[in-house]
Amino acid sequence: MERIQILAILVVAGIFALLLPVHLSAQADLERVSVTERSDGKGIVVRYHLTEPADSFKISHPAPDLIQFMIYAPGLDPVDFTLPDDHEIVQNFTYHNNHSGFGTDIVLEEDQYYKANAYQDQNGRHLLIAFEQSTSGEIDQIASNSDFIYWFDYQEEEDIPSFDFTFDDGDDSFLRIRNGENINVVVLDPGHGGRDPGAVNRQLGIREKDIALEVAKRVGDYINQYMPEVEVVYTRSDDRFVELEERGRIASQANGDLFVSIHANSARNVHAYGSEIYFLGLARTQSALEAMKRENSVIELEEGGGPMQLSEEELLIYELANAGNMAVSERLASMIEDQFRTRAQRRSRGVKQAGFVVLWNLPMPAVLVELGFVSNPNEARYMTSEYGQTILASAIFRAIRDFKVEHDKTVRQNSTASND
Ligand SMILES: [Zn+2]
Repeated sequence: MERIQILAILVVAGIFALLLPVHLSAQADLERVSVTERSDGKGIVVRYHLTEPADSFKISHPAPDLIQFMIYAPGLDPVDFTLPDDHEIVQNFTYHNNHSGFGTDIVLEEDQYYKANAYQDQNGRHLLIAFEQSTSGEIDQIASNSDFIYWFDYQEEEDIPSFDFTFDDGDDSFLRIRNGENINVVVLDPGHGGRDPGAVNRQLGIREKDIALEVAKRVGDYINQYMPEVEVVYTRSDDRFVELEERGRIASQANGDLFVSIHANSARNVHAYGSEIYFLGLARTQSALEAMKRENSVIELEEGGGPMQLSEEELLIYELANAGNMAVSERLASMIEDQFRTRAQRRSRGVKQAGFVVLWNLPMPAVLVELGFVSNPNEARYMTSEYGQTILASAIFRAIRDFKVEHDKTVRQNSTASND
């Protein structure tokens, strides 16, 4: 009998212990995040110094070099927390605060393979992530069974409907394009189409040409809705084959002010993921060269087409002759990259230059966006989901919007200056 009573008290106490932190918890603050070596030498421990227990937490390992950690603590205020020092196995930490709590993307350095486990410290407040050295085989296995955590629920985001005209006054000398005209026509170029599917994930039946078209149309819809003064021109608006040169002709005839070509990437390594933004120029990295060759290979499908690549010499001449447009293109590319990285929670593989034929000879700033890898099953599903497409398209839209606002303001300032 006694034992049952004690057990009953323990059970009741246990229920209270479970309920107490949830109902009576004060707002948690995050004081700092620290990194220490494990005492057993097998890796590191990342410690979140919280002032109150969190409601719960979640860890995911969706790519070999990416560990995501979500702390559920509504109202968590991490504004002043101290960042950890750099550590040799961690490339960077990126933090995402949202209405349910606080998230971190931890990107490991290349060729560092670590398992990550999260748990609560004995004091009940701190949360710990223990990294333990592992093998690439084991980590690949873990990554292919994990889903990405998306930090923002688009439904909660109020950003899209608002049109924010404020921005920093920076050095905008490089934005003087188009002889002082505003940006009135945006050309959207969904890559591939018709007999050219682009990159294909055969296992999932996912094709680049469909993703490109869907995302481009969403970008166009946002522009029509929130910047009705801007005309949207598509190089294709259905599933048809359009030659690269024809795409340029459409853009020029429409007097386009900006050209945004939308694609998805592919790689032999199924774990490769993330976005890349290109503008025309000499390819300066191996991966830029590979993306360029793949996207240019469509010419082989054209009537009378043979393999065509822009030579280094052609590109050098182009760089010299078009330094102005290139700088503007690079500016637009970096704005898209910034949106992808900070708002769409994309792993950015950076802004790059390469000799894309589709960007060749365009009399306007032009960029090519590789949204992500169709060869990565996780990303392929993301890019075909309503959710993923909405996030990707709204990020591209916001960059175009910010670019226009910044550019048009420069035009106004210059015309005021010349009228004085
Ligand atoms: Zn493509």
